[in-house]
This record gives sequence, C-alpha cells and structure tokens, in this order.
Amino acid sequence: MADLVVRVGSRSAQGVRPNNEDAYIVSPDSRLFLVADGMGGQDRGEVASHMAIDIIPRALNDHLAANEPADYAVDKALHEANAAICEAGKGQPEGRRMGTTAVMALHVNGTVYVANFGDSRAYLIRGEDVRQLTVDHSVAQALVNCGALSPEEARYSPYQHVLHKFLGCITLSDKADVRPFTPMPGDRLLLASDGLTNHVEDEDLRQGPRGYPDPSVWAHHLVDLALARGSRDNVTCVVVAFEPA
Ligand code: CA
Repeated sequence: MADLVVRVGSRSAQGVRPNNEDAYIVSPDSRLFLVADGMGGQDRGEVASHMAIDIIPRALNDHLAANEPADYAVDKALHEANAAICEAGKGQPEGRRMGTTAVMALHVNGTVYVANFGDSRAYLIRGEDVRQLTVDHSVAQALVNCGALSPEEARYSPYQHVLHKFLGCITLSDKADVRPFTPMPGDRLLLASDGLTNHVEDEDLRQGPRGYPDPSVWAHHLVDLALARGSRDNVTCVVVAFEPA
C-alpha cells in the first residue's frame, strides 16, 4: 500500500440564493469529508444540513472508537443523523419537513469509504478516468435504473431533483450504499452538491489533476465555473488530493 499525503480544498458559495443551505466539513485529521445540501421552508434546510455535519462526525467517531467496522460505522452515523433530523422536524407540517442530502468519505487504514443519501455526489478522478462513485437518490435516477428513462432524459426530467432517500426521511430504512476504494497517488476525490454537479461535465473534472494540482485552487475554480455557467443554487465542493508521500 502506497504511503499517501492527503491535501484538501473546499469552498461553498451562496450564489444568488437568499441563504446557503449547503454545508460541509473536513475533519481536522483529514479523515472525514462531508457535503450536505439542505431543503425545507424558511431556514429549515440550513438547520438540517448543519445537523448532518454536526452529528455525523461525532456518531462516526463513537462507532469507530468502539472498533466497529468502517462501513458499519458509516451506515450507523448516517442513520443516527437521519433519526435526529426526523425528530427535529416533527413540529413542522407534513409534506414540508426539513431534510438534507449527505455525501461523505471516510479515509481509514488505507481505504476510503464513500456513502450518500440524496443527490449530492462523489467522483473519483484517476488519470483520464472520471468515475461517479455515488448513485443519485432522485426519482429520475430511479427511472433510469429501471430502464424507463435514458441518462440524458433524466438530466432534464422534472423529477431530477425529487429525492426518495435523504436525511430527514421518516421511511429511510435502507442501509447506506457504502462503496470502498483504495486511493492511489494522483487521485482526486470530489464531493459536491447539485449546484455544482449540474453545471460541470466529466471533461471539466478530467482536467483537474493536471490543470489545478492544488486542491484548494481547483475547488475555487469548480465553484466559479458552476456560477459562471449560470448555477442559481448554492454551490459547494470538497476536493481531496492523494499525493505520493
Ligand atoms: Ca442544491
């Protein structure tokens, strides 16, 4: 296993929205990376995404400290955040409750565990290869999965942003899809909200490692790119660079 140095860049922009419902966190030891995109009326989306970035790291640490397997700990932490957000949203009218997406990556023992609920995404850029590691939990993507829509049709579907799994979803009983990978020198891992991914193509991501070796510069560039291309949403990303030690 190659020894790797991890460098991180991140940025969140409010854009033209009246508030920023996106939130993200990078743990001080650069072990946990998380992006959350909140939804709900008034300031509820902001509350939900901040609950996610508050609860998930603490829950994860508790489970890892108890020597539980990383994939189990990731799933438990996401479900504990879900339960807390559901509980906090109980006072709100039905159909208007708060929620948030979450996409996270945990780097432990030479493996990165990626998991998500909702439509915030993780991408791995390795050389010329750009791979989306997460599957959106949107109704449009579910229709693609069963062959009723093409991926191209899904991009313009009114159901693209209707989510059937997210944190704050009272029927969220499914286990999180936890996808592990072994990072290699030169890899870039991108976590981003849909305000970014809707406006950035695979070709843009392919250029990252060569054109923007500093992850912080690349994170700023990607957010600028999404805004310049007309994103009217909050735009957030975390870029993790794995470099040779
Ligand atoms: Ca969004």
